[in-house]
Amino acid sequence: MHTRFLSIVLFFISLISFAQLQSPSEFLGYDLGSQFSRHHQVIDYFKHAAKTNSAQVKLENYGETYERRPLTVAFVSSEENIKNLETIRENNLKNTGIIKGNASGKDIAIVWLSYNVHGNEASATEASMSTLYRLLTENQSWLENTVVIIDPCVNPDGRDRYANWFNETSSKPYDIDQQASEHNEPWPGGRPNHYLFDLNRDWAWASQIESASRLKVYNKWLPHIHVDFHEQGINEPYYFAPAAEPFHEVISDWQRDFQTQIGKNHAKYFDKEGWLYFTRERFDLLYPSYGDTYPTFMGAIGMTYEQAGHGRSGLGILNDEGIILTLKDRIAHHTTTGLSTVEISSKNAKSLNTEFKKFFDNSNLKYKSYVLQGNADRIETLKSLLDAHEISYESARNGSASGYNYSTMQQGSMNTTSNDLVVHSDQPKGKMVKVLFEPNTKLSDSLTYDITSWSLPYAYGLKAIASTKKVRGSAAKATSVSNSVDTSAIGYALEWNSLTDAKFLADLLKQGVKIRFTEKPFTQEGKEFDRGSLIITKGDNPKKQDLDAIIVAAANKFSRKIHPLYSGFATSGPDFGSPDIKLVNKQKVAILSGKYTSSLNYGALWHFFEQQLKYPVTSINSEHFGRVNLNKYNVLIMPNGSYSSILNESGLKKLKSWIAKGGKVIAFGNAISSFADKKGFNLKSIKEDRKQDTINKVPYANRERENVKKLITGAVFKTSLDNTHPLAFGYPDHYYTLKIGRRSYKQLGNNNYNVGYLDAKPVKVSGFVGEKAFKNLPNSLIFGEERVGSGSIIYFVDDVMFRSFWENGKLFLTNAIFFVNNNAFEL
Ligand SMILES: [Zn+2]
Repeated sequence: MHTRFLSIVLFFISLISFAQLQSPSEFLGYDLGSQFSRHHQVIDYFKHAAKTNSAQVKLENYGETYERRPLTVAFVSSEENIKNLETIRENNLKNTGIIKGNASGKDIAIVWLSYNVHGNEASATEASMSTLYRLLTENQSWLENTVVIIDPCVNPDGRDRYANWFNETSSKPYDIDQQASEHNEPWPGGRPNHYLFDLNRDWAWASQIESASRLKVYNKWLPHIHVDFHEQGINEPYYFAPAAEPFHEVISDWQRDFQTQIGKNHAKYFDKEGWLYFTRERFDLLYPSYGDTYPTFMGAIGMTYEQAGHGRSGLGILNDEGIILTLKDRIAHHTTTGLSTVEISSKNAKSLNTEFKKFFDNSNLKYKSYVLQGNADRIETLKSLLDAHEISYESARNGSASGYNYSTMQQGSMNTTSNDLVVHSDQPKGKMVKVLFEPNTKLSDSLTYDITSWSLPYAYGLKAIASTKKVRGSAAKATSVSNSVDTSAIGYALEWNSLTDAKFLADLLKQGVKIRFTEKPFTQEGKEFDRGSLIITKGDNPKKQDLDAIIVAAANKFSRKIHPLYSGFATSGPDFGSPDIKLVNKQKVAILSGKYTSSLNYGALWHFFEQQLKYPVTSINSEHFGRVNLNKYNVLIMPNGSYSSILNESGLKKLKSWIAKGGKVIAFGNAISSFADKKGFNLKSIKEDRKQDTINKVPYANRERENVKKLITGAVFKTSLDNTHPLAFGYPDHYYTLKIGRRSYKQLGNNNYNVGYLDAKPVKVSGFVGEKAFKNLPNSLIFGEERVGSGSIIYFVDDVMFRSFWENGKLFLTNAIFFVNNNAFEL
């Protein structure tokens, strides 16, 4: 009997131990920090924890990356809280006003820990496993009033790019020599996602699938605390909150103060271990698209923690101070701050809840409504951005709105109709509305980490009024367009105003439809068609029996209103056989990539072609430029980059002779300097004033501030446009450009075209520009076309693809590809 009882007990013990949570090292089969774990191994560990501790760990899959890796969060808390997870979530949203009613029950702190947004800052994801383990095994008491949401890897594609590269490159045992291959990642590095976007600049624009998917689950929860785990240079030990100035003015005193409390809690642990750190420097809270600012503007204490390391340090590296920094150290530090964050949040669960609730009182915001007017497609695109943030909006009513006028930059008014959009600030996410829409962000300090202007009316090319009184609106209506086949028509016309028009064009070109565009306005069937309007005729497409059906299907797919035409004889303006109405060439486009190319600019363009325009582009590694047969392409895009080593004398000669035969180069940013001031090209740079005082009177302590005078940190300028030039078809006579670099060029002479340019007195509408940088801007070029033989070079001095959020700039690129100098050679 006794032995039988014992064997039953032993049997149950074995069952328990079988189902027991293993440490990361036990589970992975190697010491945590002795290898880089692949993403699937990390997900397996989280699954293991959810299986062994199902009452306390719940996993949720919130999406998939472009390379099909899962995006996952784990909810970790007490058994009771996990049972009541939905009630806790609803209570929290009741505090924000998103869900009606009053929260009840005990105060629960909600802490969200995001790891490895930059793929090569790879200690973070390892630390997510040890943090999970220690929460469950050592810190149960905190979980009684805290829900911890862990995203073990925000950027799985970048993380695995780094981990796989390191695994195939590193020596065994690892080499601490900084010059060893394992400390020098090849282009493009593991930091960005698949399309080479920096996901820590993408929260507000949600252009990438990882960000868009995350916002859905983030907005369901709106945590009280959000930590974004990063890594910085190998000699800078650790950075944690409180953050540096400038703080955006919507940040509350409580948010500021609690950052300090958190920082002091971390300091307690770091001091005990003798670990160094810094606070209040470098990482500010202004630009809204970071993993610290976005959560902050949504009511959380949003923070960045930076461990020494990133893609340089591998498993171990000897830094410049003679210290060997190991992956194990990095994991230990990130685990410590993660746990310390949960601890201090648990201790302050009550005040976190009360203060979080206060944040959502938006009654004191200066502007009550933002009214937006303009092209319907741009309004629709803006609506989908607002939808991603679950910010509500209305349609305006027939009437007028007055307040700050974004176009005139002074008080004014605007007549409104139901086509206009109204966004109010007295909604739960009102502070984010202010941050995204306000005309000018208040800067408490010009020394900032990022751009200082992103005002959406300018980015979307919309007229706008910011009103201090609430502008009444009505429920927004969904618009739908439907066309039907008209067999008596000889063809169809479409106005050219937006990127959606360009998507329609790209779709038809891919289907082999011949399409024309007009370089002059014309009138047909009582309707005026401006420059750039598309014309599709049956005469141009004799072999396409089902042309009507193809066009109508494409028009309905993109919600385009197409106009049937019954004669080629125009009421006014050119007839369809006129030389001013040209066939659009089905362009074959190539783009340079590789180590001479800016990965960010290349990635934004790559994403634009594949995911937005959906038009084929061939990526060419710039290292192979010398042996590439350019004659296979009509258009060569040169993203921002340093091409001097490939565009040496022979490289430039090869390129120029291809252009002269009818090729078209589209050059962005620093790629322009491949042509500027070179023999045989017209473009001239504006030289920076390099005159030096004979004696430098700038005190050493002021050197950073002095340097700021030379900077343009993302400011918006009003530029003049020649909208009779094909590059600016579909635009009015002006454009608001986001200027991010200080390099500037003179306007073009001879038979070339200045399409976008600054006048003698440049009009800055928003953002910071240093006084020295400003001096180079009068009469400078923004967008231009230089003719070389039969071909062209199109200069984009300002990057219309920057982080893919300056929506109104994207049409310039499609114009450049399809309309500018359309006498392209046949391939
Ligand atoms: Zn980072």
